[in-house]
Amino acid sequence: MSVLNIPRPAWMSEDVVLLEEQTRRFLASELVPHIDRWNENGIMDRQAWDKLGAAGLLCAGIPEEYGGAGGSFAHETVINREFALAGLDAIGAPLHSGIVAPYILRYGTQEQKQRWLPKLATGEMIGGIAMSEPGTGSDLQGVKTSAKRSGNGYVLNGSKTFITNGQHANLIVVVAKTDPDAGHKGISLIVLETDDAAGFRRGRKLKKLGMDWADTSELFFEDVKLPAEALLGDAEGQGFIQLMSDLPQERMIVATAAIGMIERALALTIDYVKERKAFGKAIIDFQNTQFELAECKSEATIGRVFHDHCIERHINGGLDTVTASMAKYWLTDLQNKIVDRCLQLFGGYGYMDEYPISRMYRDARVQRIYAGTNEIMKVLIARSL
Ligand SMILES: Cc1cc2nc3c(=O)[nH]c(=O)nc-3n(C[C@H](O)[C@H](O)[C@H](O)COP(=O)(O)OP(=O)(O)OC[C@H]3O[C@@H](n4cnc5c(N)ncnc54)[C@H](O)[C@@H]3O)c2cc1C
Repeated sequence: MSVLNIPRPAWMSEDVVLLEEQTRRFLASELVPHIDRWNENGIMDRQAWDKLGAAGLLCAGIPEEYGGAGGSFAHETVINREFALAGLDAIGAPLHSGIVAPYILRYGTQEQKQRWLPKLATGEMIGGIAMSEPGTGSDLQGVKTSAKRSGNGYVLNGSKTFITNGQHANLIVVVAKTDPDAGHKGISLIVLETDDAAGFRRGRKLKKLGMDWADTSELFFEDVKLPAEALLGDAEGQGFIQLMSDLPQERMIVATAAIGMIERALALTIDYVKERKAFGKAIIDFQNTQFELAECKSEATIGRVFHDHCIERHINGGLDTVTASMAKYWLTDLQNKIVDRCLQLFGGYGYMDEYPISRMYRDARVQRIYAGTNEIMKVLIARSL
């Protein structure tokens, strides 16, 4: 489904196109029929993760030797775009496959990779990344959660909030201070296997403006005893650099969701305005409707071309943080703008929950906030001036 007439980008090789079609069919039959129930329950079914794993749609970019599908970020990207096109805005799989698993792949020891990646690929383990705390989000250096050396391991104390997959995750990468006096050099990534972890507690599944079935949650750590092998990699104090190095990918994941949701909003709206009538003609026959959608389609096309350019560069290893920040900020702003304009063309029905555009409007808002706020994106871009 695309209303944009854009030639297939070079990064979409034949096997990527096949994966796109396979993903579309799988999502339509296995996940989309459950969205309404998940919205009611405020969480998706745990089994949906196993289904995604069995279909090869988790960890598509992780090498086969670690249980992944052996693809690249191109494969991840088409899966993520299909999630957005299918209306699975709240799904935590892109974070699981595109953020948590790559941290382990890039920075983990051989033992850590072998222990965790195959289980992430099947869905036996669900990943989370716990950076934000009640007192700090944008300013990561301000984290208070601590991992103190104790005997041969660590003792973890602190709390996190707004954590995606917070109820289901059983493998959580926790940003913690191993040396509270060393500034950003005192930050390490600690990997917590939550099953049977004494002192670990999940807090509330937070009620939100949108993304109703995302299990965004609080997490608490009280004297959680961990082995030395819980430290990601083999040296303390690397956490901040590890986080910063992976930011372009995190930003592109959000940008892909944005462009996918834009394309879906346009498709839904074009269908609707052709059906709905007022003053004896279809809504699309009003010049205002045509101009609104002509502008939206133009901007969406520009957005998609820039998105594809960034994906291409990232796959080839050349996407810098500044350009990725532009994609995250600009495309999520555009998403909010276009979804709002589309909703207006639905009239009162656009405000009704049973019309997907209404949910898309609510879901869109957070895209400008998480994965680094759009203001932080501009701070980063401005540093390059
Ligand atoms: C649904 C959802 C899911 C999330 N998932 C996760 C997750 O899985 N893991 C995780 O760790 N976090 C997650 N987050 C947290 C998210 O990343 C943070 O909310 C975000 O980084 C902003 O941090 P904050 O909320 O503390 O806002 P603050 O940092 O307090 O910012 C408040 C305001 O000040 C602005 N601001 C801050 N610093 C500057 C500056 N230097 N210049 C200009 N303006 C500035 C911000 O842009 C913002 O407008 C999630 C959040 C939500 C809502």
